[in-house]
Amino acid sequence: MLPKLPEFKSGTVWLVGAGPGDAGLLTRLAERALLSAEVVVYDALVNEEILQGCQDSAELIYAGKRGGKPSARQSDISITLIELARRGKRVLRLKGGDPFVFGRGGEEALALAKAGIEFRIVPGVTAGIGGLAYAGIPVTHRDTNNLVTFVTGHGSSGEVPDGVNWSGLAQFSPVIVLYMALKHLPQIADKLIAGGRSLAEPVALVANASTAGQQVVVTSLGQCRDQIMSDLISPPVIIVIGEVVNFRPDLDWFKTEVASLTNFKAKLSMV
Ligand code: SAH
Repeated sequence: MLPKLPEFKSGTVWLVGAGPGDAGLLTRLAERALLSAEVVVYDALVNEEILQGCQDSAELIYAGKRGGKPSARQSDISITLIELARRGKRVLRLKGGDPFVFGRGGEEALALAKAGIEFRIVPGVTAGIGGLAYAGIPVTHRDTNNLVTFVTGHGSSGEVPDGVNWSGLAQFSPVIVLYMALKHLPQIADKLIAGGRSLAEPVALVANASTAGQQVVVTSLGQCRDQIMSDLISPPVIIVIGEVVNFRPDLDWFKTEVASLTNFKAKLSMV
């Protein structure tokens, strides 16, 4: 028998990870939250199909960046969550992937804690693990790596994060998973090569992982340095650098379900 789920109480906030896209990757707690939330505050990366899982009467509040519009300020989002909870609502804060992985879930949870609002964290499948699995890439494999690093390619001020020791990373981490890194990939590849990584090292870029629009480009670190990959593929993109990419030809189980890949290949071959 399946375990009994906790009650979603009025006046509380659930910070929930929606996974990378495929609605089947929602946890049972996420599903419970969708079914009972009165207000859903959601991000750009949350798949529309997942939002359809909430009550018809639920109020939906968009708190992300889309169509070049500026994103809602982080403090505004936290204030909204606090106010809604104080009004006695069951508030679902729905985020792409996992709320605590480059998702600012920590900041929101801290604001709630400070305001004395009861909350629950519902982890989700993060793009850097589950998204890669949908591209047939295991994030660790016994023969290739006993270590993996998750890195953001986007500093808080928009540049390549300078708090990252890129040459150290090049030396110690056989597999590197980059979030939000499409724009700065040439500079990042350059830094990793300068730190000793091979030009030929395999790299995979997975866009819209786990959705019908998933696209995958497999290339090399040297190529990433020289080519603007954003000409080929559009965000959200998760990037993995390392030998695990070589498992993809054998493990690409999702390929038959990828609708737009054929067109994409045509586009690639034109470049
Ligand atoms: N909390 C999220 C990450 C948010 S940061 C998580 O755990 O997955 C946003 C970055 O996540 C994007 O720039 C991209 O690098 C990655 N990402 C999220 N969803 C993705 C998807 N479906 N396909 C590819 N990358 C994705």
